[in-house]
Amino acid sequence: MNEKRLPELRRAINRHSHLYHVLDRQEITDAQYDELMRELRAIEGEHPDLVTPDSPTQRVGEAPAAGFAEVQHSRPMLSLANAFDDDEFLAWHRRVADLLEREEFEMVCELKYDGLAVALTYEDGVFVRGATRGNGRVGEDVTSNLRTIRSIPLRVLGEAPARFDVRGEVYFPKSEFRKFNEDREAQGLQTYANPRNTAAGSLRQLDPRNTAQRPLDIFVYTIGYSEGAAYDTQWDTLEALAGLGFRVNGNNRLARSKEEALDFYHEWLEKFEDLDYGCDGVVVKVNELDYQRHLGDVGREPRWAIAYKFPATQVVTQLLDIRVNVGRTGSINPYAVLEPVVIGGATVKQATLHNEDYIRSKGLLIGDWVVVERAGEVIPQIVSVVTGRRTGDERPFEMPTTCPVCGRPVVRTEGEAMSYCTNPACPAQVARLLEHFVSRGAMDIEGMGGKTGVALIEQGLVQDVADLYYLEKESLLKLERMAEKSASNLLAGVERSKSRPLSRVLVALGIGHVGSEVADLLARHFGTMEALMAATEGDLAAIPTVGPKIAASVVAYFRSEANRKVIDRLRDAGVRLADEARAEPREQVLAGLRFVVTGRLPSFSRSEIEGRIKDLGGSVGSSVSRNTSYLVAGEDAGSKLADAERLGVEVIDEEMFLKLASGA
Ligand SMILES: [Zn+2]
Repeated sequence: MNEKRLPELRRAINRHSHLYHVLDRQEITDAQYDELMRELRAIEGEHPDLVTPDSPTQRVGEAPAAGFAEVQHSRPMLSLANAFDDDEFLAWHRRVADLLEREEFEMVCELKYDGLAVALTYEDGVFVRGATRGNGRVGEDVTSNLRTIRSIPLRVLGEAPARFDVRGEVYFPKSEFRKFNEDREAQGLQTYANPRNTAAGSLRQLDPRNTAQRPLDIFVYTIGYSEGAAYDTQWDTLEALAGLGFRVNGNNRLARSKEEALDFYHEWLEKFEDLDYGCDGVVVKVNELDYQRHLGDVGREPRWAIAYKFPATQVVTQLLDIRVNVGRTGSINPYAVLEPVVIGGATVKQATLHNEDYIRSKGLLIGDWVVVERAGEVIPQIVSVVTGRRTGDERPFEMPTTCPVCGRPVVRTEGEAMSYCTNPACPAQVARLLEHFVSRGAMDIEGMGGKTGVALIEQGLVQDVADLYYLEKESLLKLERMAEKSASNLLAGVERSKSRPLSRVLVALGIGHVGSEVADLLARHFGTMEALMAATEGDLAAIPTVGPKIAASVVAYFRSEANRKVIDRLRDAGVRLADEARAEPREQVLAGLRFVVTGRLPSFSRSEIEGRIKDLGGSVGSSVSRNTSYLVAGEDAGSKLADAERLGVEVIDEEMFLKLASGA
């Protein structure tokens, strides 16, 4: 085992703990911090002799910052043990069941808020003191600041114990946080990166008037200590707290079995991101307070509760570089090279940056620490910059003025977001195009993409896609690792591809905005390559669902001398460039389906996709209701996405829509 890592781990944990608790700063996410602690505990577990009194596992937190009076908590504010998967949760349940000597017991399931824990003390029903968690035993007196939170009752409703303190979590609502940042931006002030740190900072303002301007809120979840009345269960406690006028979360649930508790977790795992407050897991507590007392605490953690965390979707890492690659249309695509980091089980090394404006709008500098998000199967995105970690050595990204592959000039036309390499023979473009040309949805020539394609280009055997049809076995055999058999297979594949339908050829050419759907439409409408090449923008735009963007792109493609030459050589080689018969009119595959469209789609404008839906017999609505069949969502989808999720309406992307529209 790597006990050599102990000092390093302890140093790292102490440093981050100090940053977080004392300086209200954060350089790593909670998940990363938890991971360090887990590693430390694991090593110390195997080598108990190496545990030192100053190890971070031996204490709860850090000393409170200067500036606030200290408050001794009447009972320590403990932290919770974590579970990160079902097995760990079930292991906890098993231990509790064994200690209680009973298989089943009730549990209260609560959301785990990503905020700042506080203790509120009431005497004779009046709020007398509020304190931060601090190190768990001693916190900071932030009574005046807490008084500014309107959901904290200054006097409780009804009958209450003579003296008691309640524990809760102060948070900054996400919607308010957005508004707050917009306001600051409008005033030319620096914006904040995340609601939790901002809540912490707000609560620790020395001037309560500053706190009052920030719309903090609180959920209360337990009584820490009380003189007088006591309740039998956690569930009764929550109900009593609500009755006293405290804000208790409405999503709490009483679970009668471990299965019900797991259901609660998995339900919220699906939808926690829609909540207006940060939430990073669920907390499961043994309901009976007698059982809780029997179970007791171990070290700094109660045995009767566990925090089952959601997998992290955001982590902080460093932006090492911004590089570009060349797309098949010649677009220069910037991407982020990241210090590799694990998010939700996958290692992330790169993130898309779309284009120059995107980089500017995020304010990204090379060398910055950035928050990276990976949600579901979505490509990793950079969410924000941790500007507080800048050292001054960061430098801005410059869009190259020449193509990194062929060295020819790069241009960005006004009104276009992308910059382009202007050389149609650019090897990078040809390689991308070749890969696309031979792909399954296009000419479907097996074994011709990837390394073979690159080798063909490097050897000068292929300069454009038409060259594929003029390859000879002799020259193929000169390629590295190319045997007789595979060369024959390749040539047979090329031969077979000559009879692909016209729509597939159109897809294969890689004309901007012409995907399989549009290619289908054009092939059916024109029937031959000649007819399509002769079409004007007006002819094209007259076809329902072909918008002006597509029309312009098709005409521009065939106007190019180089492209016309490729078509001629494809024809000469025997590639079929016409369909024998026009297909039947389109089936009404979307008949009876109701769609709502939101966000920016990769290849359709709003009117194009709506036309397409209507063309195929579907209908289009403007707002999501229970009658909506599908919400087609693109980039920057807004509130409709939340509506759909709330109403259980299926959300699909453009690709899924095209599948549906193709009748598949
Ligand atoms: Zn180039």
